[in-house]
Amino acid sequence: MLEINDLVKTYPDGQQALRGCSLTVPAAEVVAIIGPSGAGKSTFIRCINRLVTPTGGSIRLDGEELTTHRERRLRETRRQIGMIFQEFNLIERLTVMENVLAGRLGSVGFLQAFLRRFPAQDVERAFELLERVGLGGYENSRADALSGGQRQRVGIARALMQEPRLLLVDEPTSSLDPKVARSIMALICELAGERRIPALINIHDVGLALGFAQRVVGLNAGSVVFDGPPSAVDEAV
Ligand code: ADP
Ligand code: ADP
Repeated sequence: MLEINDLVKTYPDGQQALRGCSLTVPAAEVVAIIGPSGAGKSTFIRCINRLVTPTGGSIRLDGEELTTHRERRLRETRRQIGMIFQEFNLIERLTVMENVLAGRLGSVGFLQAFLRRFPAQDVERAFELLERVGLGGYENSRADALSGGQRQRVGIARALMQEPRLLLVDEPTSSLDPKVARSIMALICELAGERRIPALINIHDVGLALGFAQRVVGLNAGSVVFDGPPSAVDEAV
């Protein structure tokens, strides 16, 4: 369970990106965060794994306060949080398999992956995940030979390779055409559900949020302005 209380972020230039946001996400719930550009969506999820340092408030994951973690605990926590990015963040000249195995190391220190030998069970797990995301047979393809949708599938497998306690997903479909975007959003929501991983998904496409998430949180100008099931969004709009 993820519990966020009164999260505040003021950037050094004075920009108030978050003005006291609270949100509780139980295990296995898939929450879409929607809102116009500049609402604070990226800042919100980046505070959770400290790509951005919050100015105030509390973030607890299974009871553990994350905002006070320093270097070592922060690295440990990051290894337990799967990130999926808009631009996929693959290592283009490496293979699909190598990219997925890199997930074992968390989202930092990718190149270390190739200085280390991976246990057979990790490789087996990577094969299974690639099969599950629809990329069986692509293990040895180079990342830069894949389409956008396929690259995002690699990004999803890499995140799950971490066996994360939480998935943070930042605009996963913005670089994809609408049909591929739907399949990627569906896959992320399905996998989070079946593995009981709570997920926060920033997505500016309201249709995708309503179609696939269990819950929708609306941000505007740094504040939560809506929090409820997709069915309630239609009534609110
Ligand atoms: P969204 O993801 O909803 O588009 P962001 O979290 O990126 O929103 O941005 C929220 C606000 O914070 C915007 O006004 C944006 O310009 C500002 N902002 C984002 N990152 C920075 C930064 N590094 N420095 C200063 N202001 C920032
Ligand atoms: P995103 O698509 O994730 O919202 P943006 O295109 O808004 O990202 O911003 C790209 C980068 O620029 C991010 O690292 C963000 O933190 C930073 N940024 C956004 N707005 C500002 C701002 N007003 N001042 C400084 N940096 C900003």
